[in-house]
Amino acid sequence: MRLTTIKLAGFKSFVDPTTLHLPTNMTGIVGPNGCGKSNIIDAIRWVMGESAASRLRGDSLTDVIFSGSSARKPVGQAMVELIFDNSDGTVQGEFAQYAEISVKRTVSRDGQSQYFLNGSRCRRRDITDIFLGTGLGPRSYSIIEQGMISQIIDAHPDELRGHLEEAAGISKYKERRKETETR
Ligand code: ATP
Ligand code: MG
Repeated sequence: MRLTTIKLAGFKSFVDPTTLHLPTNMTGIVGPNGCGKSNIIDAIRWVMGESAASRLRGDSLTDVIFSGSSARKPVGQAMVELIFDNSDGTVQGEFAQYAEISVKRTVSRDGQSQYFLNGSRCRRRDITDIFLGTGLGPRSYSIIEQGMISQIIDAHPDELRGHLEEAAGISKYKERRKETETR
């Protein structure tokens, strides 16, 4: 599975609709301080279902919506869409048949957030579900931030086990077992 396209509109500093193509396995994002590099990472984490504003460097969930600048008025909605090439079949289950998987999230000023999988409305759960065990998720190891390496070194054994289980691809089975046990 590979992330091939990131689309943003009204998200943080990306007020105008922007499409970023990631044509190869390695892409570097460079630019001066404050140009929006980290906002792109925030966008990826947000669309994958991050719900803690602090993890997106904001105070409230609507802080991800473009809040205006000296030259531009604020906008009413933020949208991020990620497009994955799934031709290697990384995503299993009902979505395995799709060579391309689109994950989209929107939020409006009233705090209403909506999620979409390949264009159809879905729950946040559906997105976390299909990516569980792939290493991609709002808090998974596919995004390694400043300070995370030392966090892993200092991690409590339970947390460390969680990372190892996600890397080994068994977290989805544990999650399902937990669900059936609580039913
Ligand atoms: P550095 O190199 O310092 O890490 P960076 O390229 O990672 O910088 P970001 O942190 O991604 O920069 O972007 C910060 C910019 O995004 C700031 O100018 C900030 O005003 C702008 N920004 C963040 N949230 C919003 C928002 N909701 N509306 C408008 N602009 C925003
Ligand atoms: Mg940054």
